[in-house]
Amino acid sequence: MPTDIEIARSVELKPIVEIAAKVGIPEDALHLHGKTIAKIDDRFIAGLPKKPDAKLVLVTAINPTPAGEGKTTTTVGLGDALNRIGQKAVVCLREPSLGPVFGVKGGAAGGGWAQVLPMEQINLHFTGDFHAITSANNLLAALVDNSLYWGNPLNIDPRRIVFRRVIDMNDRTLRSIISGVGAPANGYTREAGFDITVASEIMAIFCLANDLKDLEERIGRIVVAYTPDKKPITAKDVAAEGAICVLLRDALRPNLVQSIEGTPAFIHGGPFANIAHGCNSVIATTTGLALADWTVTEAGFGADLGAEKFLDIKCRKSGISPDAVVIVATIRALKMHGGVAKSELTSENVAALEAGLANLGRHIENMKSFGLPVVVAINHFVSDTDAEVETLKRRVKADFGVDAVLCKHWAEGGAGAEELARTLVDLVEREKANFEFLYGDEVPLLEKVETIAKKLYRADKVTASAAIKKQLKEWEAAGYGSFPVCMAKTQSSFSSDPTAIGAPTGHTLPIREVRLSAGAGFIVVICGELMTMPGLPKVPASVNMRLLDDGVIDGIA
Ligand code: ADP
Ligand code: MG
Repeated sequence: MPTDIEIARSVELKPIVEIAAKVGIPEDALHLHGKTIAKIDDRFIAGLPKKPDAKLVLVTAINPTPAGEGKTTTTVGLGDALNRIGQKAVVCLREPSLGPVFGVKGGAAGGGWAQVLPMEQINLHFTGDFHAITSANNLLAALVDNSLYWGNPLNIDPRRIVFRRVIDMNDRTLRSIISGVGAPANGYTREAGFDITVASEIMAIFCLANDLKDLEERIGRIVVAYTPDKKPITAKDVAAEGAICVLLRDALRPNLVQSIEGTPAFIHGGPFANIAHGCNSVIATTTGLALADWTVTEAGFGADLGAEKFLDIKCRKSGISPDAVVIVATIRALKMHGGVAKSELTSENVAALEAGLANLGRHIENMKSFGLPVVVAINHFVSDTDAEVETLKRRVKADFGVDAVLCKHWAEGGAGAEELARTLVDLVEREKANFEFLYGDEVPLLEKVETIAKKLYRADKVTASAAIKKQLKEWEAAGYGSFPVCMAKTQSSFSSDPTAIGAPTGHTLPIREVRLSAGAGFIVVICGELMTMPGLPKVPASVNMRLLDDGVIDGIA
């Protein structure tokens, strides 16, 4: 099998004008970025009538393991397969961040024969959205320090500046810095730091905003610092929201590209799945829903984090909701949940697979508890044996009452996911979604966390210090009590312990810290290590990248 980039290079792309026409986007609604990438005009989007019958499909997964699951790959393969069986489908994905591209994970444009193209551009600078978001974030940071410098009229406490600078790179040395060192003309010396761009609250807001007006209002509400007596100071107080919208206007138009098989793909925004909600922009998803019959989209991490936040945060704030959920599982990952080491995954082990099934089962039950129809996509790896596949299909049906469909889109493109597409269409016809949020807006903040912990994670209890409980009460008194909570915990387990794989019960969820994202409109609840500026591994993915003699990019995986 050729590598992802070799496959990507071998495909001849169609003009993006042709791809746009498939879903009724006229050429004059495109802002072209070369021949194969375009942004969609916001006035065209604003004028689109709603399509009440359009179907939304959420692709999520079991708890991630080092064996890999393939949500993005399956999202793309399913979109292709739906089009192959005569439906009109688009996919919606996040934009990749340079941190993972050069770090451990690599690119995020799918894999094998289920990729979005041009993968090098998508994985690198693309249409400059991350540059715009980085600049918007750093403008706000500069305005805060500038206000402090020019006589500090807002009475900013330099020890209580909470808004940090960002850069789209994994660079651990920037996590904690001293800024403003040197002469008085360099500003006030203070402890500061950088996050990665995808962790910026501006990114979360960008992905939740319904339009430019909504973007501006939300940006204005970002809390950037506090006074010595702990009164919040917002982006509006430093008059940042207007200029930030100027910087973000073009970026807020969703990007259109194509899959290997010519499926239109909206790739727009990319918030972290821990400190933020982890899915592409609301604008891209609603544009997909207004244009196609099927919109297939991915949420980050496993269903306990990504899907829960998609449902309780993105759906709550945008009014959309899925018609069905696809849970991606691999036999390799399930065997890891059943206790097999990564090095042993290539040999058949039905017993371990059956032991690991509990992880998948709980995600199925959880997604059903939102009132959503569920189908399992078995993302096929070449090492999977027939006995393992048959066991998985049989047990999923018998134990959890849903279909598990073998998918070979990675090796075969959309043809390999046609059975999944047919099963999905059939499921959506047969079973109507009866979507309900896990908790109501009116539920107190701590109780919201307890609801998620007990119902989805199957924890016995949630613990929090008196200071955290007091903070949550203060935010409720300040009018933030109706916000949803944005859970930040390990992606590897239902619990807060990354080694507790499978389906742990009886655990305690400790809240370590809480943060207010007033502009995004949620409370971040941190239960474990929260990395907002990752580091690079000892051997980063960047070491394999180079330009070939003809200027072609090589080594992006
Ligand atoms: P996720 O979205 O869940 O993080 P991706 O779809 O990005 O996962 O896939 C992660 C990596 O695994 C990609 O490099 C992709 O090429 C690879 N991959 C996905 N599915 C398969 C498969 N069936 N066989 C081999 N490699 C795969
Ligand atoms: Mg992905």
